Amino acid sequence: MLQLTDRLHRIKPSPSSMAGQRVRELRAAGRDVIGLTAGEPDFDTPLHIREAAWEAMTAGKTRYTDVGGTADLREAVARKFRRENGLDYTASEIIVSTGAKQVIFNAVLCTVQQGDEVIIPAPYWVSYPDITLLAGGVPVFAPCKPENGFKLTPEDLERAISPRTRWLVLNSPNNPSGAAYTREELTALAEVLARHPHVWIMTDDIYEHLMYGDAGFVTLAQAAPSLKDRTLTINGVSKAYAMTGWRIGYAGGPAALIKAMVKLQSQSTSGANAIAQAAALAALEGPQDFIAANRAAYQARRDAVVTALNEIDGISCEAPDGAFYVFASCEGLFGRHTPDGKVIRNSDDWVSWLLESQNLAVLQGSAYGVDTHFRISFATSMTQLAEGIRRIAAAATALIR
Ligand code: PLP
Repeated sequence: MLQLTDRLHRIKPSPSSMAGQRVRELRAAGRDVIGLTAGEPDFDTPLHIREAAWEAMTAGKTRYTDVGGTADLREAVARKFRRENGLDYTASEIIVSTGAKQVIFNAVLCTVQQGDEVIIPAPYWVSYPDITLLAGGVPVFAPCKPENGFKLTPEDLERAISPRTRWLVLNSPNNPSGAAYTREELTALAEVLARHPHVWIMTDDIYEHLMYGDAGFVTLAQAAPSLKDRTLTINGVSKAYAMTGWRIGYAGGPAALIKAMVKLQSQSTSGANAIAQAAALAALEGPQDFIAANRAAYQARRDAVVTALNEIDGISCEAPDGAFYVFASCEGLFGRHTPDGKVIRNSDDWVSWLLESQNLAVLQGSAYGVDTHFRISFATSMTQLAEGIRRIAAAATALIR
């Protein structure tokens, strides 16, 4: 019989990946399913980036690269951090991996031992707890209240820190809530962190370029330079450059940590895909104007979805600061029941009812640590979004008080 490890039994498959797969299966079975689950841009990778990949192939850049990334790409990443974030990293302080996900995986596997704690503000991206569990660590959830814009307060942080804390994970703009921290909010968190020098900080900035309104993006090491020597600044090309399938992420951090991560990567995947690294180089160094164009399209969708959702009885949401998700409350529907008597008690019940009654797939907030909410991705066309909202309204109206 197949024997699986304790390590594997501690984790579950990624709920967002599973939801995407379920949508594909239901469609293959002939159901007219709309999926608002995608965690990826619906735009194509810009042509100049695809051309750079083609040129890399024809130029024979088809071999193993340095484990931590090609020198060209690491230098481009250093320039990106300087240009966009005001952060100085040398090439030995940068790693390129197979997606930001592998960066996080490497960092946690290198530093978290049995029983070590990782503070994860909730709502959170689904992979942080499970990567921690894989390493034998303990996810310590710090609930962030909707009335605080789903952001961690200095008091929440202080309460969550213990002598076993290894990391605080900060994700801004956040998946799923879209909340983005201001410079002042980061400075206030930094004051707490200054009192706890054993706590390192992982900032996941993957949605940096998807910020709406006038507030500019700020990352922690920029707001609090004194924390830079214990901060891992994580980013990647997946979301800003519509390159999810290319699988390139990167980070800047203290040289000793980066060296450890490269060592781990040398015994797992080696360097990231050579062609994709050439494409990522073109993304970081080439024209950036399409980012603003995509952002404007997302913002129009965000505004349409937020307005329409707030018109549905039992549902409410705030406009997210960034990313391409609306995290809406369905708490107003709890206690109502379906025509055949099933009571909606939590986000899972609501999301199942949407799929069953309206063929609409969204994600339950319980997967993100907040069971009163559900996540809608607006990285899809206005037509799909309008039909999705129509189905949400129909599913809510069909519930009986
Ligand atoms: N971090 C967050 C918050 C995400 O939402 C995602 C993808 O959904 C990732 C990281 C993964 O990024 P990558 O494609 O670079 O692995």
